[in-house]
Amino acid sequence: MGVLSWLANGLSTIIGAVIETTVEVIGAIRDGLDSFRQRGGSVGSAMEKEVVTRKERLREVNDEILHLRNKNMSRGSLNDEDRRRWNGLREERDHLLVESAQAKEVKVAETILANEDNIEKVLIDRETTHKLQYNAFVDTLGKNCPKCKRSMKLQWRRDLKVPDPHDFFWGCTGWYISVGDHKACTWTEPLRSEDFALMTDVSAPEFSLTSDEFGIILSDPFTQGIIDTRLKDLQSDLGSQRKGVELVTCPEHGEHMVLRRKTNPTGLLDAYFLACPYWKPNNQGCAYFEKLKSAPQLAALLKSETGRGVL
Ligand SMILES: [Zn+2]
Ligand SMILES: [Zn+2]
Repeated sequence: MGVLSWLANGLSTIIGAVIETTVEVIGAIRDGLDSFRQRGGSVGSAMEKEVVTRKERLREVNDEILHLRNKNMSRGSLNDEDRRRWNGLREERDHLLVESAQAKEVKVAETILANEDNIEKVLIDRETTHKLQYNAFVDTLGKNCPKCKRSMKLQWRRDLKVPDPHDFFWGCTGWYISVGDHKACTWTEPLRSEDFALMTDVSAPEFSLTSDEFGIILSDPFTQGIIDTRLKDLQSDLGSQRKGVELVTCPEHGEHMVLRRKTNPTGLLDAYFLACPYWKPNNQGCAYFEKLKSAPQLAALLKSETGRGVL
């Protein structure tokens, strides 16, 4: 770490900088990036190249871990050599995940500096909770569970159509991972008062509406049909390129999540979810998945993958 002093995410949103001004935050990000570069850290195209190499290596490491896991399951145990190899691979994967998180911070810092003029402070209140939801599906940088070290994400009570700011909380991503018949981790934390201020790129049209207005537009069946079609197109584009969603990774495998659509959804907000590429039927693979359960999340996904949101 060390590039960003605040929580952030891949949409270049800074969370938790309520007392600072945008100018101060951007100045600190510039300083953080400079000193990272002076310490020999890679930025720009050098960093991008490392990201590609690291992704390839991560895939190899995950595949080999999976191979050893299957060997263990079919034989009932591993020999000493395989066990050493397994431990070594898991260590290497932890290291690759730390490096990936750092590269994401660099990328966020660079994106913020490139879009400096569009970065504004947004205070979250009853009118603007969709802006929290908009930011909720993306990997959060710098927020880890104190109990299990997995990353944490913004969550909210799902039974509410338009949640209040205080219906949001931080939830450990281990909640989505089943171990036998229980969840890997159920740690949650309330949002701190500073989490209710975001510094973010406000150029998306979604940011000029209130949560209620946003909800009304998106509840129109015709609009829902258009969004569904665009998501289906995105899913097939990503599928044909064998790509995942850029901004969301599995906390365990570090690989980009795959956009999936349920066969018989009850509606648009029940239709789409993200699954780890190591997901397999009947609990044979990675169980990490994330529901895309709100219109702002779908808007953020379309915006980040296609350049255009839902408005
Ligand atoms: Zn946890
Ligand atoms: Zn996974």
